Amino acid sequence: MTDQQALLATTTSAVRAIIDEKVAELVAAGTARPKVGLVPTMGALHDGHGALFEQARAENDLVIASIFVNPLQFDQPEDYEHYPRDLEADLELVTEYGGDIVFAPSTQHMYPGFPDAPHIRVSAGQMGQMFEGASRPGHFDGVCTVVAKLWNILMPPPPAVFRSYFGRKDAQQLAIVTRMAKDLNIDVKIRPVELVRAPSGLALSSRNVRLDDHGMEKALGLSKALHFLSDQATRGEPLDISAARDMIRAHEDVDLDYLEIVDPDTLTPLTEEQLAAPLEREALALVAAWVPPVRLIDNMLLSP
Ligand code: AMP
Repeated sequence: MTDQQALLATTTSAVRAIIDEKVAELVAAGTARPKVGLVPTMGALHDGHGALFEQARAENDLVIASIFVNPLQFDQPEDYEHYPRDLEADLELVTEYGGDIVFAPSTQHMYPGFPDAPHIRVSAGQMGQMFEGASRPGHFDGVCTVVAKLWNILMPPPPAVFRSYFGRKDAQQLAIVTRMAKDLNIDVKIRPVELVRAPSGLALSSRNVRLDDHGMEKALGLSKALHFLSDQATRGEPLDISAARDMIRAHEDVDLDYLEIVDPDTLTPLTEEQLAAPLEREALALVAAWVPPVRLIDNMLLSP
């Protein structure tokens, strides 16, 4: 199912009708277990999202995109208000990236009665309180709540199988949604997708459009510090987090929030001893910093 304009649905009943019909068509055409891939996004699509679609397209019979700027995961009203939105451009991009269906509900459709609703929300637990969660209280509860809703709305009927694509750009989010599917027995397979960078090294992000040239230059400190740690890891040298932190702070008015090296699955920080010895297994360097007027995150897997 390619080369066609992606179908837009803005309500749960409309999108489910389309999914049911497409799955039935695939079964009728002889696909015993149609594969359905979901790419959840907040829109303002760029080539980082493109990588998710590319992988989803290659692995599935039907590719669904969701586009929803989820108010529950923003802790700053200013960030929510200024988050870039352009549904028309996004629809074209989803089509270009090979998506079949776009689910783009309104806030009131997702959360009837918002802001007093939803009453029941998913807690991301301890994993949601570290790093991004420590700086953005409630962020991962908001992510888990919307992702659980999207999975419930968009899960295809049997005999189809369901996969959900998440970028390594948001490494903590990937670890948390993987854990949520397992802990809550949700029948979805999580597929991680590699982080996409600009040629400069900057991790592609919808928020980058708010950076001017000078801001872009300052933002490069994040990826440079991560490469510095990655090179140390490959050479089997001790990991010098303080030097990496200084590389980011060297840029005027960049406010480093955190730079830590953790276990990729549990997000537990490595001990001083582990940092001083050559790595025994893959570790994850996580960084977040304010590069006015935006807060940026980045990360890199460090290989022994
Ligand atoms: P967002 O629209 O920012 O919520 O992102 C939607 C999905 O795209 C998430 O799974 C992100 O991790 C992923 N994503 C965003 N930027 C990138 C990137 N530069 N590389 C890989 N995945 C990305």
